[in-house]
Amino acid sequence: MPPADVLADVPADVLIDCQDAALTFGRGPNAVVAVHGARLRIRAGDRLAIVGPSGSGKSTLLHLLAGLEQPTSGTVTWPGPAGRPRDIGLVFQGDSLIPALDVIENTALPLVLAGTPDDRAHEAALAALALVDAADLADRLPEEISGGQAQRVAAARVLAQAPRVILADEPTGRLDHATGGRVLDALLTAADATGAALVVTTHDPAVAARLTVRRAMRDGRLTAPDGADADAAARPGEPS
Ligand code: ADP
Ligand code: MG
Repeated sequence: MPPADVLADVPADVLIDCQDAALTFGRGPNAVVAVHGARLRIRAGDRLAIVGPSGSGKSTLLHLLAGLEQPTSGTVTWPGPAGRPRDIGLVFQGDSLIPALDVIENTALPLVLAGTPDDRAHEAALAALALVDAADLADRLPEEISGGQAQRVAAARVLAQAPRVILADEPTGRLDHATGGRVLDALLTAADATGAALVVTTHDPAVAARLTVRRAMRDGRLTAPDGADADAAARPGEPS
């Protein structure tokens, strides 16, 4: 829990408050600063694209926002009623399905673990799979679907939970243009329907263009695309 004076000036609609959060992997000569002092606030209804090349720190930043990684310095807090982890859904970039469960069981799993009765969880899972054109895959095992299909199932697993914040890590990265567009449609439609915030990382300008706000990431530094966002810039005296 951060000190009360840190929370005092956070507006009520802030769901994630990231203040100068940095993350360094490894130590000494092998240390890699994956994220330098990122400043970012996610509010209800936000539509944010984080755009950067491979290795720029996008996944690490999302993991910090989701509470999966602890910042080495700075803070990430979830001040609103959202609260980690129940109301934040992360669409992982890499393979994240459980091999022994079929697609609908994978999609329903977070709901089942949260106590939703099986039949209702499966109903929600099937509806979410339909949103990403994957309802026909319901009975397949992860090894029986392609990487792109698995990526759509990972998106459905998050949509089924109707989280207040959807963090999607390159959700179109393994998809062709048309399929990627439909997955993005599904994420935007779901976020609009529930009033959720949506944060999408991508290196594709066409994907970024579909979000309202774009922030660039380069070498672990989060900036606005024009570099004009002082909020995101490293401040004097801050280690870099
Ligand atoms: P992106 O998602 O933009 O491709 P990442 O956040 O995955 O970038 O990686 C940012 C940097 O951090 C890269 O240099 C990467 O090699 C490094 N990195 C990421 N995860 C780890 C880890 N678990 N251990 C060590 N280095 C890592
Ligand atoms: Mg990544």
